[in-house]
Amino acid sequence: MIAVCIHCAKNRDAEDGRMAKQFASQGDLSEKKATFAELAKGAYAFTTEGDPNSGVIVGGDAVMVVDARATPVLARELIDAVRTVTDKPIRYVVLTHYHAVRVLGASAYGADHVIASQGTYELIRERGEQDFKSEAQRFPRLFRAIETVPGLTWPTIRFDRGMTLRLGEREVEIKHVGRGHTKGDTIVWLPRERVLYSGDLVEYGATPYAGDAYFQDWPGTLERLRELKPEKLVPGRGDALTTREGTEEAIAGTQRFVRTILEDVRRSVAAGRSLKQAFDSIYSLLEPRCRGWAIFEHCMPFDVSRAYDEASGIADPRVWTAERDLQMWEALQSQPPA
Ligand SMILES: [Zn+2]
Repeated sequence: MIAVCIHCAKNRDAEDGRMAKQFASQGDLSEKKATFAELAKGAYAFTTEGDPNSGVIVGGDAVMVVDARATPVLARELIDAVRTVTDKPIRYVVLTHYHAVRVLGASAYGADHVIASQGTYELIRERGEQDFKSEAQRFPRLFRAIETVPGLTWPTIRFDRGMTLRLGEREVEIKHVGRGHTKGDTIVWLPRERVLYSGDLVEYGATPYAGDAYFQDWPGTLERLRELKPEKLVPGRGDALTTREGTEEAIAGTQRFVRTILEDVRRSVAAGRSLKQAFDSIYSLLEPRCRGWAIFEHCMPFDVSRAYDEASGIADPRVWTAERDLQMWEALQSQPPA
């Protein structure tokens, strides 16, 4: 039986006197403060205290937005921030990956082009609708004015490995450097300024979501980001990093988290343990280290479910639906340790 009521966010187990965890981030209702900061000339971070970040790059004659936010109403806040620094048109929106919370606000910008990797396009086509329903159920606060979403966001430009755009004098590299958080992960890199927009490949002070991940590939993809030697980094969630030490710390922390989960879950699978047993094992290992990270409780059941699948030989992440989400949560987070 599902213990979580998605409408009132109350929990029957809690009413029974047994502590159980509210589904995903339904209990997270406190608005976060946005910060719009210039990291290098014309390169901005729009960060939101652990909610999904975006980036803004101002070129000679146009503006690029990296990740669109969840709804057109939320995108409006980012546009307002852009208008405090430039009146140039926002011509390009780059999607670092397909997740609804980052892409469904795209229509607000009136951009000429929405740019995404081929892998991201395939995921939108294959599972965009289910992902929208699932993500909206997981984190209602992030989908403010959800009724303003006109439908899925489709790229108008697709690339396989990468492309370079010139915004006036400024060179912008848009690359798929490997799978990790999803199969289509895309970074935006300013080679001259050494500014990296990583999307959810890198998090800082926030928990990497790995429900759609390729655990085996992710650390190697992060290695390629490390080789860029970024001076500044806008992670998917968490504060922007503005020193070499900071960018390295964020990349290393994400790498460690991903490796630790995969190694422990592999041991569990090899020992014939159940998903619930695997979850309890890695949760008890990581909870003391990561409990202060944003969305830790939200992410762990999804992350371990995917790691368990991958360690069991399921090559590609299975589609999350609103129903599968709740069933998984009931099995892992609403039950006491096995
Ligand atoms: Zn994501």
